[in-house]
Amino acid sequence: MKITAIEMLVCGAGWRPWSFVKIGTDEGLVGYGEVSEGRNLYGVMGCVRDLESVLLGRDPRPVELLNVDMQRIIRQSPGGVAQKAVAGIDCALWDIKAKALGVPVYEMLGGPTRGRLRLYWSHCGTSRAQFGDVIGTPPIRSLMDISALGKEVVKRGYTALKTNIVIPGVPAKVHMPGFVGFYASRDVGIDTLDLNPSPRLLKQIEDLIGTFREAVGPEVDIALDLNLNFKTEGFKKVAKVIEPFRPMWMELDTYDPKALREIKESTSVPICSGENLYAPLGYRPYFDLYALDVAMIDVPWNGFTAAKKIADLADAYQINIAPHNYYSHLSTLMSAHLCAATANVRICEIDVDDVPWKSDLLTQPVEIKDGYLTVPTRPGWGADLNEKEIAKHPWSS
Ligand SMILES: [Mg+2]
Repeated sequence: MKITAIEMLVCGAGWRPWSFVKIGTDEGLVGYGEVSEGRNLYGVMGCVRDLESVLLGRDPRPVELLNVDMQRIIRQSPGGVAQKAVAGIDCALWDIKAKALGVPVYEMLGGPTRGRLRLYWSHCGTSRAQFGDVIGTPPIRSLMDISALGKEVVKRGYTALKTNIVIPGVPAKVHMPGFVGFYASRDVGIDTLDLNPSPRLLKQIEDLIGTFREAVGPEVDIALDLNLNFKTEGFKKVAKVIEPFRPMWMELDTYDPKALREIKESTSVPICSGENLYAPLGYRPYFDLYALDVAMIDVPWNGFTAAKKIADLADAYQINIAPHNYYSHLSTLMSAHLCAATANVRICEIDVDDVPWKSDLLTQPVEIKDGYLTVPTRPGWGADLNEKEIAKHPWSS
């Protein structure tokens, strides 16, 4: 079997692009991998093209070998956009190999370790606050709307949710000054850089998490994701404010392992981090310091090969993983396969509020019941991309 074509597929998923690598072979087998990157799409597309030279004409099945060869191309710019390109290709290669053998991907790695996977409802309130018109959801005008949303989460069977700093109003806002782009503050330029939480903002966070806690009751898990929106001092202040509501975790990202350790030591709130890190080498300094309780791993950005190695490294440090999955359901399946090939899993992310045609993007629907995803048993990832549906939603930015 030989690789004959490598192609990027992009669709406009409301407020961001979803992107995929498609690999074709001379035997007709096709593999898909998700590599959605909402802020550096064209960088990833360019890097995928750079990698073609080492892949075209080769057998797609020795995935580890092809990974090492791709690493030798990106060696002088590891991680980041370059690794995302490797990751999309890597996932498409795993899909082809599994289909060639007629087995699910996790079957090749000692799985399944589980038949179903607990999910948490991510961007709970965040998506409605900013993109309710695209999704078709009620507005977030007041804390009463937050309370109603919390109750909806429970009613729809979910046992956990994750939110961001959602500030109800007309219009509602999401405090995300660490980013520019979708989900983020529109404030750029002068007077926007210090990332300090004001007393008013801390009170708004307290009200938000307190309202969710009261709405969902004591047994449903709540997480708060702060991303890169504060510095160490600010993260510690937020942890203190949300501590009484017993969160599942406070999530944040920092490129300084010692800073993360300092935040973790300052609070009883469990700390989740890692979504922006790459490869075992990127995680090891954080693990060596025991700076986090839950390691978030992004499969579309690391690739399945690296993600599995990170999960196994985390296990050696008695740390559970949680896939970073705020993408299409191809990523949901790829994340499910990681969890089904892994013993140390905490829970998996999923965006429930999303574009109405999200499920139509796959040839087989994902099966979610009572807040749990059924691990697929079909070959490869368990579903292919529906390219006709992708074509209906062009990305134009
Ligand atoms: Mg996060």
